[in-house]
Amino acid sequence: MNLYITHSSCRLHDNGIYHPEMAERIGRIEDQLISSQLFEWFLHDEARAATDEEIALVHDPRLISVLEEALPEEGVRAVDEDVYLSPHSLEAARHAVGAVLDGIDALHEGRAKRVFCNVRPPGHHAEHRRPMGFCLFNNIAIGAAYALHKHGYERIAIVDFDVHHGNGTEEYVRSEPRVWLGSSFEHPLYPHSDPLSDLENMVKMPLAKFSGSDAFQQAWLEQAFPALRVFQPQLILVSAGFDGHALDPLANLRLHENDYAWMAQQLVKLSEESAQGRVLAVLEGGYDLGALSVSVREFIKALFELSA
Ligand SMILES: [Zn+2]
Repeated sequence: MNLYITHSSCRLHDNGIYHPEMAERIGRIEDQLISSQLFEWFLHDEARAATDEEIALVHDPRLISVLEEALPEEGVRAVDEDVYLSPHSLEAARHAVGAVLDGIDALHEGRAKRVFCNVRPPGHHAEHRRPMGFCLFNNIAIGAAYALHKHGYERIAIVDFDVHHGNGTEEYVRSEPRVWLGSSFEHPLYPHSDPLSDLENMVKMPLAKFSGSDAFQQAWLEQAFPALRVFQPQLILVSAGFDGHALDPLANLRLHENDYAWMAQQLVKLSEESAQGRVLAVLEGGYDLGALSVSVREFIKALFELSA
């Protein structure tokens, strides 16, 4: 009933040397799950590739063709200040989206109740027309759009606890009231979005530099979860970024792996109230390989309700 989805191409997208969003992230997470003897306790799927039509549920089709044309035959090419393409980047990005769509199908068909997608490139900064912040396509937003259009869901919640605000996901929920977004993030920090929400279907929780577990948990308990309960989502999707960890090199929050276990426990409870337990989480950030792999392990253990 617990499903883990990845694809080998996600290890082939290359941002060049010294880039924090590195291919090893996927392998280190998987190695950690194997060495902790958790790996055999869930189902495994190889992701399919998302189609152009599916990606265009959220993105301008011209974005796909622009990226295809920019794809280098070898080496690495910059397309934005921190977005790079290598020969297998689009294959990886299509499978990262495809993992989320496969997971949503599995939840809908009852093949799984909880899903974790160990994929890259991440997605929540990607906007309608432009890739941004290490992200090519917005995996989670496309997942929400797919669940609405393909399976007829009417209320979907996106929970985003990455240390950076998901500006691309925010752009999507601006035109989609059937999707609710709760987002905690360090402020001020990239992508420097407005820290206040002007939308009924979005709760933003800016956290000051050096905030730790108490501020993080309090924000979710007092601001986001009450609103999420009122919204009564039929499905909970999670932008699972682990760069709020105290050891992360890109940000300054002081979260620990236990905070991610806590978050997963809360999501399990909330999902049982209105979503028949259905939760799908997809990897976003997290750039200290050790902290990332342990944080994901603790998150998955709690999400999948494993006691090992
Ligand atoms: Zn991030």
